[in-house]
This record gives sequence, C-alpha cells and structure tokens, in this order.
Amino acid sequence: EAYEDFESRKHTMAPSLSPIKSHHVAVIGAGAAGLVAARELRREGHSVVVFERQKQVGGTWIYTDHVEPDPLSVDPTRPIVHSSVYGSLRTNLPRECMGYRDFPFVIRSGESRDPRRFPSHREVLAYLQDFAKEFGIEEMIRFETAVERVAPATESDGEAGNMKWRVESTEKEKKVRRDEIYDAVVVCNGHYIEPRLAEIPGISSWPGKEMHSHNYRIPEPFKDQVVVLIGNSASAVDISRDIAGSAKEVHVACRSNAADTFIKQSGYSNLWMHSMIERVHEDGSVVFQNGKIISADVIMHCTGYKYHLPFLDTNGIVTVDDNRVGPLYKDVFPPALAPWLSFIGIPWKVVPFPMYEFQSKWLAGVLSGRIMLPSKDDMMKEVKSFYATLEAQGIPKRYTHQMGFTQFEYNNWLASQCGCSGTEEWRKEMYLTTGVRRREYPETYRDEWEDHHLVSQAYQDFSLYTQ
Ligand code: FAD
Repeated sequence: EAYEDFESRKHTMAPSLSPIKSHHVAVIGAGAAGLVAARELRREGHSVVVFERQKQVGGTWIYTDHVEPDPLSVDPTRPIVHSSVYGSLRTNLPRECMGYRDFPFVIRSGESRDPRRFPSHREVLAYLQDFAKEFGIEEMIRFETAVERVAPATESDGEAGNMKWRVESTEKEKKVRRDEIYDAVVVCNGHYIEPRLAEIPGISSWPGKEMHSHNYRIPEPFKDQVVVLIGNSASAVDISRDIAGSAKEVHVACRSNAADTFIKQSGYSNLWMHSMIERVHEDGSVVFQNGKIISADVIMHCTGYKYHLPFLDTNGIVTVDDNRVGPLYKDVFPPALAPWLSFIGIPWKVVPFPMYEFQSKWLAGVLSGRIMLPSKDDMMKEVKSFYATLEAQGIPKRYTHQMGFTQFEYNNWLASQCGCSGTEEWRKEMYLTTGVRRREYPETYRDEWEDHHLVSQAYQDFSLYTQ
C-alpha cells in the first residue's frame, strides 16, 4: 500500500508534459521562493527570467558580516544588506521537515557540510545551491540585477484577458539598464528585510544605542554591556542567549508577557524576562511595566519585519496596509490582476520551502491554463469574506498572512488544485512536535528529540527521490 502511494506521488510530482499556453515570466528574487517558482514555471513550459540583485542564489541564507550603516534600518536611502541571518543561527525546524518535497534536505557528504538535524545557516545555503544546480536554475537567473519598477504595460482586457508588464531593472550597480515586457510577474522578494520597530515612550532623548536584529551578527560587540531585547520571536530567544555569553546583563522585554512578569532565566546568571518597557529616560534608564528599572547601553528590537514592495506600481490595486498585502486570493493572486501578477512566499509561521513548492505548482498550472481560477468577482468575494472573518475574530490586519495550524489545510487545498498529494502526515506532526519542544526546551530542542519514528517515515519517503 505504501509503495503504491509513493508510486502515485512520484507520478503526480513529475513535470507536466503538455502546457496549454506558455508565457514569458519574470520572477523577482532567487531565494527559496524564487528558485522553486522558476523550476515549476519552466517545468510547465513557460520561459523564465529570474532577477536577483545579489551575486548568488539563497536570499536570506547568504550570511554576511556586513550590516547596514543605519543600525535601525529606517533610512530609506541606506544601502540594503539583504540577509538577517546571524553567525550562530541554526534552523528552528528539523531538516527533514524544512526541505522541498521532491528534493529532500538530507545529509550530503562534503567538507563543509553540517550533518546536524537542525543545521547552521551555511548548510541551508548549501542546500539551496544544490537545488539550483540540480535543476539548472542558474541559467535562468540574471545576477546582480535589481528590479527597480514593475508596472502594467497594458490594461487587462476583461475576465480572461491577457495583460503585459513592464519590468525595469538595473545591472551591476546601475551600469546596465533594461526596460522589458513580460506576460507575467512573480514576486519572490522576501519579507525579512524591512524592520518593524517597537514604540518606546521617551526614546528620542534616551542616550543609548538602538538597533534592529536585522543588523545583529555576533555577540562580541556587546561584551560587558547591558542589553535590552524587545520581542519573543525565534530571533529574540536565540539572540538573547547568544549575547548572554558576552554581555554583563541581558533583559528581554515582551509585550505579550503579563505586566508583573520578572523571571530570571534558568541556566543563566545574567538573563531576565520582563513585561514590556514602559518608558526610557534621558539618564539612560529603562523602566519596565513590572516596575524594575535598569540602566542600559543597548536596546535591540527583535520585533520582526514589514512586507515591502518598493518596485511595484499597480495603480493602487495591490497595497501593503498594516502589513497586509492585499487583496490576495489564497495569498498568491490579486484578483484584478490574476494570474498575471502573483506572490510566492507571503505566508508566515509556516514551513516555508514545501509551501512555496505547492504555491509555485499552482501558479505555473494556472498561468498555462491547465488549472482554472474562479472568476475575478468570486476571488474578490472570497478575499473580502476572509478579511471579514479576521475582523469578526478580532485579529488585527497585520496577522492576515500568519498561518500556523491552517497552513496544512492551505497546502492540501493547493495540492488538490494541482492534482498532487498534500502535506505528508509525518511533516505535519514533526512541525507540531518541534513547536512544542521549542517552547518547552529552547536551549536543547535542537540537539535532543524524541520523534525518531517521524524521522524514519520521512526517510522512507525520501528514498523515492534520493536513490
Ligand atoms: P529571501 O530568502 O529573502 O529571498 C528574496 C530574494 O529576492 C533575495 O535573494 C533578494 O536579493 C531578492 N530581491 C529582493 N528584492 C529584489 C529586487 N528588487 N530585485 C532583484 N532581486 C531582489 N525558514 C525555515 O524554513 N527554517 C528556519 O529555521 C528559518 N529561520 C529563519 C531565521 C531568520 C533570521 C530569518 C530572517 C528567516 C528564517 N526562515 C526560516 C524563513 C526564511 O525567510 C525562509 O526560509 C526563506 O528563506 C524565504 O525565502 P524567500 O525566497 O521568500 O526570501
């Protein structure tokens, strides 16, 4: 029975052989989303150009020592450093769970490879490089080429009517400019670049240093300092522990903690959890809601990022409003411009790579006309009703693209559209189990685990692609 399941999966995940209509498609970005989008689009028979402003594939996984000159990254004219990855970063998902479905993230031999289940960022980059090589994706990429502007070149002529896009790009530090026309544009520019900041009463006259975790790399510069981190995301958990090894004191302030929260982190002599900062003062002091007052050198915002689409000009059809990119049908297509404009990689709190793979298969099939979309009106109705549900549940707009548990239902819906199998049970369970362990054992979950049965199920599935 299991063998038959693998056989049918192998079949359904194979490239489609007969595209109904092939299009000329621009993909913006060669990170995890752009790479798999390019592969699926080409598999479906489309001609693809990938624009990538960096020198290599991998997006946010390309670690660099460089940081932006503006430590808060608020100056719009600053030179952009794309990566938000810090030196000590190890994945927060196990590799089996994280990889694309038909290119498993298995241990590969090689000098600088990291065989751990929760490997370092270098291993993820190496995996994405392997993926690009395996599927010959680099030949579709124009490196060191930034997309400056994307705008409709023609109006969409009716329900199924084609439209064209003008894509303006510059290569090698603006030396070569191009202005080209494409049938479709797929936006895969990532959303961990443009920082969100916490509002702190009194901050304009506070004398210490402020920065965002986007510009954090290593703990040494914080030696003997008193550091306050704001946030409770994966980065705040990791960075607070990373810095605690060098800093004099580390204090983590978190909006979602109860007002009286004040906890010394077990296993550390210099790490405390607090409620949110109430106010900061000219004398360098930081007052927490729990009444504690400290004198701090640095405040680091580990408060996440904003969607940012500076190149996209849709005459107001697609907007970013309180971190909602909308309107988007199924987080991929703006109804009025579908399928000629699309987004891969918008959802968060998800297992990204396999989800991007599902989204890309769907997108590629829709573009060729093999998979049908509802009418523009029906898509818009569904988007509006989704927004109304969020509002009725009191969920702020900025959580529109947060998925968590619902991601598997979403993936399975995409899979049903594409005629392929949905999320594997082991992957779902592994994600859920890891989440629980990460919260309970933040120090050890990467090196100790109990889900051996899920690992062996994963490797059974992988044997289809690795032998
Ligand atoms: P990116 O990787 O950001 O790629 C976008 C690409 O677009 C970049 O290469 C960029 O140069 C290019 N680009 C942008 N604008 C332009 C333009 N105008 N013109 C041309 N090119 C452009 N995920 C996991 O699965 N496991 C983890 O453990 C994990 N840890 C993470 C830790 C951190 C600190 C961060 C920030 C993210 C983490 N993620 C993790 C999520 C990670 O973002 C995704 O795994 C994934 O890499 C996102 O891929 P992407 O292609 O959407 O974006």
